[in-house]
Amino acid sequence: EIDTKNENRNPMLGERIDNPDSFNTDDFKKPPSGITINAPIDRLKGVDIKLSARFKRLDVSSIKDLLYLFPRRHIDYSNVVKIADLDLEKECTVIGNIWEARQISLGPKGRLKATEVIIGDETGNIKVVWFGQGYLARSLKANASIAISGKPEIYRGQRTFQSPEYELIYPGRTQIHTGRAVPVYPLTEGINARNMRRMTKQAIDNWLGGLEDPIPSDILKRQKLSDLRQAVNQAHYPDNPESWASSRRRLAFDELFMLQLAVLQRRRHRNLTMSGVPLKIDQLGVDQFIASLPFSLTNSQHRCIAEILENIGNGTPPMNRLLQGDVGSGKTVVVLVALLAAISGGYQGAIMVPTEVLAEQHFQTISNLLGGTLTFTGDNIVTARTESLAEPISVGLLTGSTGTRARREITSRASDGTLDLLIGTHALIQSEIDLPNLALVVMDEQHRFGVMQRSMLRQQGIENPHSLVLSATPIPRTLSLTLYGDLDISTLDELPPGRQPIPTKWVGLDSRDVAYGFLRRQVEEGRQGFIICPLINESESIDAKAATDEFERLSSDIYPDLTLALMHGRMPSKEKDRVMRLFRDGEVDILVSTSVVEVGIDVPNASVMMIEGADRFGLSQLHQFRGRVGRGQHRSYCILLSDDPSELAKERLNKLEQFNDGFQLAEADLELRGPGDFFGTRQSGLPNLKMAQLSDRDLLASAREEAHMLLESAPDLSNEAHKTLAEQVSSFLEQASTEFS
Ligand code: ADP
Ligand code: MG
Repeated sequence: EIDTKNENRNPMLGERIDNPDSFNTDDFKKPPSGITINAPIDRLKGVDIKLSARFKRLDVSSIKDLLYLFPRRHIDYSNVVKIADLDLEKECTVIGNIWEARQISLGPKGRLKATEVIIGDETGNIKVVWFGQGYLARSLKANASIAISGKPEIYRGQRTFQSPEYELIYPGRTQIHTGRAVPVYPLTEGINARNMRRMTKQAIDNWLGGLEDPIPSDILKRQKLSDLRQAVNQAHYPDNPESWASSRRRLAFDELFMLQLAVLQRRRHRNLTMSGVPLKIDQLGVDQFIASLPFSLTNSQHRCIAEILENIGNGTPPMNRLLQGDVGSGKTVVVLVALLAAISGGYQGAIMVPTEVLAEQHFQTISNLLGGTLTFTGDNIVTARTESLAEPISVGLLTGSTGTRARREITSRASDGTLDLLIGTHALIQSEIDLPNLALVVMDEQHRFGVMQRSMLRQQGIENPHSLVLSATPIPRTLSLTLYGDLDISTLDELPPGRQPIPTKWVGLDSRDVAYGFLRRQVEEGRQGFIICPLINESESIDAKAATDEFERLSSDIYPDLTLALMHGRMPSKEKDRVMRLFRDGEVDILVSTSVVEVGIDVPNASVMMIEGADRFGLSQLHQFRGRVGRGQHRSYCILLSDDPSELAKERLNKLEQFNDGFQLAEADLELRGPGDFFGTRQSGLPNLKMAQLSDRDLLASAREEAHMLLESAPDLSNEAHKTLAEQVSSFLEQASTEFS
């Protein structure tokens, strides 16, 4: 067993116990010798194999996992009152004696069993009923002391607690279900709220002492962070709002600090070990190409192009850059300039996108932007010959549905180097494609590709090709520094002139028919529209089912005479692509879809975006949906349907009506919601931040600064004193790396 006292005096760790008031860590028992808090959850009393399996569903395998399974929120039952002073409809706790407890039968034929108890204190009596829980009568004995927490209501003319929280009071035992801020945990079938509280309490009481604090003590001191074990304890069972707040701050700092260490280390590693090819920039050619465009670039576009060209011109370390810009900000042309720079230097480029339809769209757009005389070889290769380009450029399209003939042609031209630019889906990395001179890789909509896939594509070309990742979710700078700390960032922060804002309106239940009628009239004028189904659940299959029902309802009740199509995440991607093409080609009037439609598809004829259950989406996501219309010359509209939004939701929907700018919305969203919500759901690829809110600007800045300083003095955290920290950082990276980059 580790001796904390000695460890505290370890000079490597510095003086740990410097403030006896905030560092009373000895309160918590340690696990038995030889066992750590990483022990499996079934080490807890009362946890068997079956219960372990249930915990697994909550991502809890070890005792430490349980300690870090924080409540979603707390219910405040700390207001302890006398029975005579009970306030109806207000959360409170009463403590009294049980006069009488009995099982009663209710309902038709007395089938519903309930427990009825009369409790009293020195000011009066009150009735308590638990419906469907007749068995309670046996454990609630007369004369026992009991605490009841909940809201009293009038039931059959009497003040009554109905199915409240309860807890028998024993001397020396802490209350966990009543009389305090009571934790509300995420639950799963077979683990109820009371079980869960008992388990977390047991873990805290008997194991928390074994939790090692990975953060160096000088940092804790500088940042005035509370003791880790106390913080974990208070996160579950806070003494008061202040102690919860300081606990949250401490735990949030840990998360942000780990995240920063992870991204900064990765960046360091890249800068130190990787060398890339410098791409010689033919500035005259670039200028000529820009001059040949049918529009003039915005200042933002000029700036981003300059940043990218400088980066790839230097070569080492290879570019690893995020280009972020609102929908319609003109990322494609920026990307194309960078690709042309690579190509004119004799190299190849590639663009990888998440869906076939997007790949086709990019192929089209880029062919058009290249202009001049286009020569098509089949449907899949186009050669552009124009005055603005010294040499003709050939561009290929490769997706899962590319025919064998075209595929063979592309494969052979890719490998002999006569294909300059290849645009495609996952097919680019799945097939035998070889791009020997690949020097610049562009990934559209970055969060849809995993790290693994990106590095596979990189490996195909020259060593360490430059990489550019595109994102249409503009995020505030503090946030992007945190999340993408290992990437350099270029931001398109203005839209090309002349863009029409998209009028946006949220409507409630009473105006639903008006909204449907509006969409119908647009269709009658030849336009098309989207109807996005609400996000019901994190489960794709439940959402798919709901979307299918909604599609059937709309098709039969609302728009029986129009052509509707359905798209959801459970459909095979071939099928999704088929539906998307039908919509693009105008064969479908209204596309009913789950949020899968989000990615940057262009259908210039679509003029209405209608979003059901709009209050369930994040602002940024709603903004993305809205960006799907207004892509052509038709005036376009966004209608947000929300039957009964909460006050907070109303505020968000108002923001969307008010702002058309993605950055302003992102800022507003961050103010109103936490980071998990900000990106929608888990699929965003955000690392698992449980406590940190990315609106914690100051904490974020401190975490970043501290991480920088630590890596200055201990570059690879190989020091014995940083062992736990290094381990946690690498597990953080592992957890995040499947999606997050
Ligand atoms: P996104 O950033 O959403 O990918 P795109 O690159 O698809 O945006 O550009 C949206 C539209 O704006 C395209 O039709 C493109 O040709 C056009 N565009 C891009 N830059 C400009 C500009 N500077 N002036 C006018 N139109 C532009
Ligand atoms: Mg785009």
